[in-house]
Amino acid sequence: MNHYSEITTQEEMDALLARVAGFHDSMAKELHLLNRGWVGPDRSMMMNHRFDARLLVHSQWEPAAIELLFVGIERLLTEDPGEYWGASGTVELVTSPVEKRRVSIAFDDALSITAERLFTVDRPNWTGPRSRFGEEVPHPECVPATRVGDRWRQCSVCADAFEEEEEVLYCLCSGCGVMTELADEAAQQADATDGPSGRR
Ligand SMILES: [Zn+2]
Repeated sequence: MNHYSEITTQEEMDALLARVAGFHDSMAKELHLLNRGWVGPDRSMMMNHRFDARLLVHSQWEPAAIELLFVGIERLLTEDPGEYWGASGTVELVTSPVEKRRVSIAFDDALSITAERLFTVDRPNWTGPRSRFGEEVPHPECVPATRVGDRWRQCSVCADAFEEEEEVLYCLCSGCGVMTELADEAAQQADATDGPSGRR
């Protein structure tokens, strides 16, 4: 994580907001929320529950795209996908029940996240429609794609063939831009009793 910068003081938060034009003309492009706890194949539960999240913010101002990484999320509220007029941020030290940092950032009244730690990294090339945090998030209007070679698949809408990593089920067609699904293999994965296939 050497390429991430941590926001540890109010001065650093203010400097971040100044550098990105206060997130004026921005939007939340992508949010990947992950729990560090899990239920295992034997149905036992790992109890190290903690919400961490990657948030990709697109902006019409430089650096155009920036990732915010929240660790130990205490509160997350969202009700509007944007466009945001601006953002405010605070860094405070709380002493009760234990001493720890609390970092909050709020985009208008539309998205606010409070966490124990916040890291950022510029992602100037991460503009455009595609998902950056792993695979696309499926939606009900996605169309079938057919595998036509190890790394090649064909879109059922425009019939273009395009290259994608073998194990990816959902991706955007490079020809017409629709979201495609390797439908048969998605169904197989869902049916498998031992979880996701081990092809990764
Ligand atoms: Zn297509």
